[in-house]
Amino acid sequence: MSTSLPPPRTASDLEHRVEPGGTFRLSDSQEILKVEETKKKFLSYGRQHVSDEDIEAVTRVLRSDWLTQGPAIAQFEDALAEKVGASHVVACATGTAALHLAMLGLRIGPGDKILTTPNTFLADANCGRYVGADVAFADIETDTGNIAPDAVAAALEADIDRKIKAVIPVHFAGQPCDLPRIHELATEHGAVVVDDGCHALGASYSCDGKSILIGNASHSAMTVFSFHPVKHVAMGEGGAIATNDGDLAERVRTLRNHGMTKSDFTYSDQAASPEGDTNPWYYEMQHLGFNYRVTDIQAALGLSQLDRLRWSIEHRNRLADQYRTLIAGSLPSETVKPLSVRPGVVHAYHLFVVLIDFNRLGVSRASVMKQLREAGVGSQVHYIPVHLQPYYRQHAGTAPGDFPNAERYYEQALSLPMYPDLTAKDCGRVVDTLRACLT
Ligand SMILES: *Cc1c(COP(=O)(O)O)cnc(C)c1O
Repeated sequence: MSTSLPPPRTASDLEHRVEPGGTFRLSDSQEILKVEETKKKFLSYGRQHVSDEDIEAVTRVLRSDWLTQGPAIAQFEDALAEKVGASHVVACATGTAALHLAMLGLRIGPGDKILTTPNTFLADANCGRYVGADVAFADIETDTGNIAPDAVAAALEADIDRKIKAVIPVHFAGQPCDLPRIHELATEHGAVVVDDGCHALGASYSCDGKSILIGNASHSAMTVFSFHPVKHVAMGEGGAIATNDGDLAERVRTLRNHGMTKSDFTYSDQAASPEGDTNPWYYEMQHLGFNYRVTDIQAALGLSQLDRLRWSIEHRNRLADQYRTLIAGSLPSETVKPLSVRPGVVHAYHLFVVLIDFNRLGVSRASVMKQLREAGVGSQVHYIPVHLQPYYRQHAGTAPGDFPNAERYYEQALSLPMYPDLTAKDCGRVVDTLRACLT
């Protein structure tokens, strides 16, 4: 922020200020400032929780010999592997990098196709394009926002020349999708499953009487996680792949670091002296990789945050119960309903999404979001269907009407504040404010 300007006072001040670099955008931090003036805290739709222990953990790394590629990364990987019950975890720069590494690790490329949900963040489709594969979508269940197994079955059936090599379902909002069924369908088709657990760290589903954690890789080749600050564990930026396949883990570990290796050399004559001693400086690049490394600073933060995962999930579930009770008690169920939850799942509640029939209520979502914001309540829309993005209309030939459930869902979806520092009282304020906006 420019120091020559006085501190912002009012919303209109903020909206009309122009920075040397362009128009000033009202960001959440300025919103916080603004709402503080009215003595109410701003409730954003999601936010990180950073404790004194987290700060100490990061500080310890800063005082150590390693800022990157030190011991904290392996510690974080081991702790996450234990938490989700996977044999291997490879941490990397972002969730998007993890998805890209997963595609590279599976050797998906030009001529192949990936199948994902339209109701997700762009990265689940983009990872296919990064490796030159085409992208196909399968429609969702409107009431959960998750990919519909029947739509997956239909898409695989339509893929007569078996180009679909990977199915990438997302555990939307933190609720596990029907992974066992999707795994069965994909396996029959000769495709692998890479499940996107970015919303669902700490979530589980039941299968054959057993409770299975997301990331446990019982019904997928790999699970991908993100540690962006709005996710369950914050690293600033960060991601990971969990898998039970040791070869796959090794491959993505190498690809995370330029495809460089210091063992299993192709050219042993270059690698070693005539006497057979490995040259100490020698490395080889056998595959084209990337710099998708994560730092020790980030890993230390992630490790410290991981300790509070269970607390965070339990608290989020209590908040969700509170929201459900308040919404059922004060808003008409024909026009306002939270997403439904399948029996047997433990929901991680990354998001709390409510479906609102704005058309029937005769209000626009944009005006409701604006009024909520003015009252100090943040909200968001997850997600604009990926198949409607200009890029995918052009590259996948998709159009409005292709995935009607995702499109109907999108018209109605609104994510309400959900994060560990939210209180039951805050939920009351959110629902009261929402009711005032809708009636
Ligand atoms: C956040 C997110 C990603 C991408 O993670 P980044 O760490 O931001 O790259 C991918 N998929 C889903 C569903 C996400 O929510």
